[in-house]
Amino acid sequence: MQQAEVIIVGGGPAGSSCAARLKHHNIDCLILDRADFPREKLCAGWITPEVLDDLGVHSSEYPHGIIPLRKLHINIRGLRFGVPTLQYSIRRYEFDNWLLRRSGVEVVTHNVAQVERKYDQFIIDDTYSCRYVIGAGGTGCPVYKSFFRNAGIRRNEHLIVTQEKEFQYRYTDPRCYLWFMENKLPGYAWYVPKENGYLNIGVGGKERELRKQNDSIKGHWTLLMEKLKARNLITASHIKPEGHSYYLRSGNGSIRSGNAFLIGDAAGLATVDMGEGIGPAVRSGINAADAIAYNREYTLEGIPRRSIRWKWLRFRNLFRA
Ligand SMILES: Cc1cc2nc3c(=O)[nH]c(=O)nc-3n(C[C@H](O)[C@H](O)[C@H](O)COP(=O)(O)OP(=O)(O)OC[C@H]3O[C@@H](n4cnc5c(N)ncnc54)[C@H](O)[C@@H]3O)c2cc1C
Repeated sequence: MQQAEVIIVGGGPAGSSCAARLKHHNIDCLILDRADFPREKLCAGWITPEVLDDLGVHSSEYPHGIIPLRKLHINIRGLRFGVPTLQYSIRRYEFDNWLLRRSGVEVVTHNVAQVERKYDQFIIDDTYSCRYVIGAGGTGCPVYKSFFRNAGIRRNEHLIVTQEKEFQYRYTDPRCYLWFMENKLPGYAWYVPKENGYLNIGVGGKERELRKQNDSIKGHWTLLMEKLKARNLITASHIKPEGHSYYLRSGNGSIRSGNAFLIGDAAGLATVDMGEGIGPAVRSGINAADAIAYNREYTLEGIPRRSIRWKWLRFRNLFRA
C-alpha cells in the first residue's frame, strides 16, 4: 500500500494548484490521474488575468502559446458590439501539463474506481492510503461519488452541455467572437483563436432548458458551423465535435466531509454567467491546501460566482464592433 498524507484524485488545474500549494507548505502529497499528461481537455481555453495572478506568473513568462484577447466581439440576438477587455487564450493540452509538472509533486497514472473511508484513513482501490483525500476529478470525480452524492452541491438546472472542437487551422480572422442566445440557445457559442495556428470553436447551454424546448446542443453545433461558414470564419467542410458536461455553481451544499474535500469541477464551481471554471478550479485548490495546512475551515472565499464584473470591461471604445 502506497501511503501519502494527502492524495489528490485528478491532475487538472484544480488538482495541480492544490498540489503546488501543499508542496509549498511542505505537506507530503501524491496525484493520481487516469490520463497520461499531456492530455486533451475539452475547453475553450480562455483564462482571466486573475488566473495568472493566482498562479504567480506573468503572461510573458508562460512557456507556451498565449494570445491576449483585448476585445471581445459580441453578438446578442443580432446586436453586435465590441467589448474592450484583457483576457488570454491558451491551449489546455499545454497549460494543464505545464501546471502539473510545475507543481513538482509525484503523479501516478491510475484510474481511481473506489475510495473508502476506514477510521482516520482513506483507502483507494486497495492500493493507496492517505489521511486527506482531495476530489479534483471533474464532473465524474470518484471522491464526489463516494462521499458527496447527497450533499446537495450539484443542481440539475445548473448542468451545462457542450459540443466543441480544437484543431489546427490557418484562420484568417484573429478576433474572438461570442454569440449569446442565438436561435434560442440557453447559453453561447464561441470562436477563440489560439497561437501557433490552432482554433477552438464550440457551443454550450443549459441542459434542462434545451430539453424543455425539445432542442439539443448538437443542433446548435450545426447552426454554429453554418454561421461560421457563411461569415467565412472557417472553410473546412466536416468538423466532428466532442461533448462534455459540467456544473455551474449552485451556492449550496457541502464541499468538505471530514477529511475529504472537493475542488474545481468536482464541486461544480464554474461561474453562473460564462461557465468559466479554470479560475475557480485554481482558487479552490489553493483554499483546500491552506485549509489542510492551517487546520482551518475550507470555504469558497475569494471565488466569484460571476465572470462579468465591471473591472472586466475597459470602457474605451465600448460598442464599436
Ligand atoms: C467545452 C468547454 C469549454 C470550456 N471553456 C472554458 C473556458 O474557456 N474558460 C474556463 O475558465 N473554463 C472553461 N470550461 C470549464 C473548465 O474546462 C473546467 O471548469 C476546468 O477544466 C475544471 O478544472 P478541474 O481541474 O476541476 O477539472 P479537469 O480539468 O476536468 O481535470 C480533472 C482531471 O481528473 C482526471 N480524472 C477524472 N476521473 C478520474 C478518475 N476516476 N481517476 C483518476 N483521475 C481522474 C481527468 O483525467 C482530469 O485530468 C469549459 C468547459 C467545457 C466543457
